[in-house]
Amino acid sequence: MSVFHPDVYRTDRKAPSWWEASASVREAPPVTGDVDTEVAIIGGGYVGLSAALHLARDHGISATVLEAGPIGWGASGRNGGFVGYPWVKKSPEDLIKTYGEAETRRVFDCMQEGPRLVRELLATEAIDADPQGDAIYEVAHTPKIAPELKEAAEFYHRVLGVPAFYLDRYAFAEIGHGGTEQFGAFGIRDLFGIHPLKFVAGLREAAERRGARLHGGSRVVGWEKIGAVHHLRTAGGTVRARTVLLATNGYTPDDLDPRFANRTLPALSNIIVTRPLTEDERAAEGWKTDCPVSNARNLLFYYRMLPDGRFLFGGRGGTAGSPLEDMRMKSYLTRRLGEVFPAWKGVVIDHFWNGLVCLTGRLTPALGRLDDDPSIHYAFGWHGNGVSAAPWAGRRMAEMIAGRSTVEDLPVPFRGLPPNLLHPWIRRMGLKAAYLWYGLKEPQ
Ligand SMILES: Cc1cc2nc3c(=O)[nH]c(=O)nc-3n(C[C@H](O)[C@H](O)[C@H](O)COP(=O)(O)OP(=O)(O)OC[C@H]3O[C@@H](n4cnc5c(N)ncnc54)[C@H](O)[C@@H]3O)c2cc1C
Repeated sequence: MSVFHPDVYRTDRKAPSWWEASASVREAPPVTGDVDTEVAIIGGGYVGLSAALHLARDHGISATVLEAGPIGWGASGRNGGFVGYPWVKKSPEDLIKTYGEAETRRVFDCMQEGPRLVRELLATEAIDADPQGDAIYEVAHTPKIAPELKEAAEFYHRVLGVPAFYLDRYAFAEIGHGGTEQFGAFGIRDLFGIHPLKFVAGLREAAERRGARLHGGSRVVGWEKIGAVHHLRTAGGTVRARTVLLATNGYTPDDLDPRFANRTLPALSNIIVTRPLTEDERAAEGWKTDCPVSNARNLLFYYRMLPDGRFLFGGRGGTAGSPLEDMRMKSYLTRRLGEVFPAWKGVVIDHFWNGLVCLTGRLTPALGRLDDDPSIHYAFGWHGNGVSAAPWAGRRMAEMIAGRSTVEDLPVPFRGLPPNLLHPWIRRMGLKAAYLWYGLKEPQ
């Protein structure tokens, strides 16, 4: 049993995204026959591709990536392209209370490494993924929330060493945008937007060029260990490896290995993209920025102007992922877009899609190796911010597999498996309760 409708897991078709319509990833052939490899990686998203690339390039270790759909089929090929953070769903104050200030600072140091790594990969591997902007903004959607964002910016800067700043509503209107829900903005410098599928395509080419083997259409349907060797069964053949990295994030199957069952809390994120807006239309909402923006709602909206003038508007929500719920979600986002930016009410929506982000029961990412079998590694739980977290985690896992670092080198909040959430049904109910709770607690 899965948490969502079976359509959410159909790897035989691509998400109908704007990214798919404007870029493509070269196909990787399925596994044929039996294959031996040093490291087998389950999941061909940013974690899997980055781990394969870094293993080959930096450590001379050859890895084989097994992806159920086409490479990048999961969240990596269909996200909003915000290269930002946080990778946790706890406030810095809560992190400090639980883990102390030093560990919280380590968390924020890692989070700043993520976007730097993405920039570095774009440059060193010659990946053209349309980078846009030099900051990401979180906008106060009510006047009441603005002082909190101002305080947060000071705290991030002073205590956590993050390049955060605050602009009041007039200052942000000068460089950002207008609309009905703009009352000031908290910004973090050095963050940006990209075309997420072009990033997948670039990582795919780089990993292969450096010596990794990639297989699409190769869902791992069986996993057993004979002696010291893992046998991963796919429809086309079995892949044998002494080391495995599980990189399946929100799409982690519960039936692959009982030690990973119910460890993830997948949640749907939804996106609409408009037709290209004219310059006059953009001016009607005072739109000036190419930086990605989200707002400060608990159930936030995120949005950005794409290079060709299309507007991307996204939000979390939905607990089924059924075709009916998708229709409702598309109408909901379309209505909210018109409420936040009234001049764009009724503009044609060219694309709608969604996919799974991944939370964990302790609200922080999970990286490590299994206590009872250190040859099995895992990395998941980016809390909706995996465009920078997942490539970073891939690099960290490559170092760990190569014996260049250990779990102890990670900040404590990221180490080890999160709690078992018991059953898909409980996770779905938990998600419903969380949406209700966050909705009720929404700052007005
Ligand atoms: C609509 C949407 C918008 C988002 N927007 C942003 C954003 O703007 N910024 C941001 O930072 N993050 C965003 N995210 C989250 C981000 O995309 C993810 O955190 C990140 O891509 C996760 O990468 P990953 O490699 O861990 O997992 P994924 O990219 O999800 O890859 C996991 C892969 O594992 C494969 N798999 C599962 N089971 C098996 C199996 N048995 N055998 C073989 N393969 C298997 C799946 O097919 C899947 O392709 C968004 C996500 C969505 C869905």
